[in-house]
Amino acid sequence: MKNLQCSYCGKKEPLVKRIFGGSHQAFICNECIVEFFNLLEREEENRKQKDVRSHLPKPQEIAQFLDQYVISQEKAKMALSVALYNHYKRISYPKHHHIELEKSNILLLGPSGSGKTLLAKTLARVLNVPFAMSDATALTEAGYVGEDVESILSRLLHAASFDIEKAQKGIVYIDEIDKIAKKGESVQSGRDIGGEGVQQGLLKILEGASVYVPLKGARKNSNTETVLFDTKDVLFICGGAFVGIKEERGEKRSGFLASNPSSPTQRTLRKQLLSYGMIPEFIGRIPLILELEPLNLESLVKILKEPKDSIIAQYQYLFSLDGVKLEFTDEALLAIAQKSLDEELGARGLRHILEEILMPLLFEIPSKEEVTQVSITQGFVLGNSEALILEPRREDG
Ligand code: ADP
Repeated sequence: MKNLQCSYCGKKEPLVKRIFGGSHQAFICNECIVEFFNLLEREEENRKQKDVRSHLPKPQEIAQFLDQYVISQEKAKMALSVALYNHYKRISYPKHHHIELEKSNILLLGPSGSGKTLLAKTLARVLNVPFAMSDATALTEAGYVGEDVESILSRLLHAASFDIEKAQKGIVYIDEIDKIAKKGESVQSGRDIGGEGVQQGLLKILEGASVYVPLKGARKNSNTETVLFDTKDVLFICGGAFVGIKEERGEKRSGFLASNPSSPTQRTLRKQLLSYGMIPEFIGRIPLILELEPLNLESLVKILKEPKDSIIAQYQYLFSLDGVKLEFTDEALLAIAQKSLDEELGARGLRHILEEILMPLLFEIPSKEEVTQVSITQGFVLGNSEALILEPRREDG
């Protein structure tokens, strides 16, 4: 057989290992195949990145999406929309010369039930990226009983159905971050297992590091398969109540402009977080600190009925499956919101208050086939009247 020559690079055997014959008298060597394959892959990657860029919602679109689920917190929604947009721009555009955009982790500061988790979760929904949540209080320093920091990444990997590429671009929410503040001098116990050590442990993943993470949620020290997880493109959102910080400052809450890391408000906040017991290295890895407002009565009423998947809508759906229309008077909604406000639970209280009120009905109604409509009145919410209206089904004809 005559000595074949690659039609692309011109090399002959044995200069190349193999030459494959194609149709139309064209030949290709093993080296050119690899080169073309890489070229194809690069092109595909570029196409995907362009795709992401053209589908990346603009800050205003992100804010509009958030508005459908999150009531109030306008300033935080605006700043978060910008932060999310910039984060995904950063990871979907190639580096520009020597300019590397900084990783933009976020700290949400606000009372319990003000929407911190909801905001983080909804941001992940906007972009359809995997989302995982962890509780800082469950984390311990490596080597102690409890979850280690890598477990956060395991969850994200799980949320991404073990697709590592997807997981590496996900969003993580770490709740109760104020509970891992360094303990004051007064604490005598030798090691501060739950505090400073955990903050130290979080540093590397917040900044961006490659960490071995067990696959399928297995524990790290067992002999299970692990995968290398690079956290440089993961967006970390931490949340905490940091009780006392607002009172200490005593100033009017800051606006959008104050989210600039070098603004006086951000500087003051950073100082306060340090004296609260967050270590400087930790604070240093969170360029954006945002404050959430405590929710007032009006916002709580809106939360009951306005979000796309509002609690009221959920119960109405539940009742509708039994053929019953569920209604609330405006006064009833106000009374429910007021109860939640009195209990200082923020929006978190709304669900359990509603559940308590509706429990007897959820028990009775499915057995009462004649009922078609239930109206919840203020008196019923307050437990001092039978203002609950049950309309018997009218006979046909
Ligand atoms: P946090 O993380 O601040 O403690 P969450 O985000 O977990 O509070 O909120 C608790 C519950 O209250 C969630 O079910 C959420 O739907 C509702 N909620 C809280 N804040 C808001 C808000 N601003 N808008 C709509 N719903 C809210």
